[in-house]
Amino acid sequence: MLYETLDQQIKNYADWVLRRQRGIPNNRRLFVVACMDERLPVEEALGIDKGDAHIFRNAGGLVTDDVIRSAMLTTNFFGTEEIIIVNHTECGMMSAKTETLVQAMKDKVGNLEQVALDPSLPELTLTDPNAFGRWIKMFDDVDAISEAQVKFLRNHPFIPAHVSIHSYVYEVETGRLRKPHERLAEHVNDARTMIEHAYLA
Ligand SMILES: [Zn+2]
Repeated sequence: MLYETLDQQIKNYADWVLRRQRGIPNNRRLFVVACMDERLPVEEALGIDKGDAHIFRNAGGLVTDDVIRSAMLTTNFFGTEEIIIVNHTECGMMSAKTETLVQAMKDKVGNLEQVALDPSLPELTLTDPNAFGRWIKMFDDVDAISEAQVKFLRNHPFIPAHVSIHSYVYEVETGRLRKPHERLAEHVNDARTMIEHAYLA
């Protein structure tokens, strides 16, 4: 009967619109942290669609206090059970030295430790002026930084222990994901590796 199809469509639409009120988690119970870089197509890289995940993007795809805040909410209250972090090659966070950026901001603003990091939470300041560089979070090794983000979330008391947490590196040059420290490009041109495997086979 047509009415059954129509009723189901109406119910599905209501569930889509009212899913927070009705306690319906996102389709994959997934929270994604990814770099804001315009060359990183998060949904395409992960093979996910609209409705599948909560997605947080920032400079570097790094675990900041607001990533902790968002991860805490989605894992404790919105039914999310998996976190995936996506960092990427040729990230802008590797393009300058921390000291250069700190000095540039000092020149522009003055006393960095007096600046409220969250305008609605003026008590959230860096009391140690030397911490500003660490707050920017520049890095020089995308594989190491990608692994570190997993540890930051894994060890955080706001994230439940049952939540699955993994990170990947998106290669801008190939358009593919890989696990940290697993570069196929280093293997394909290494003839010795192939010969060793041939003998073993
Ligand atoms: Zn980036």
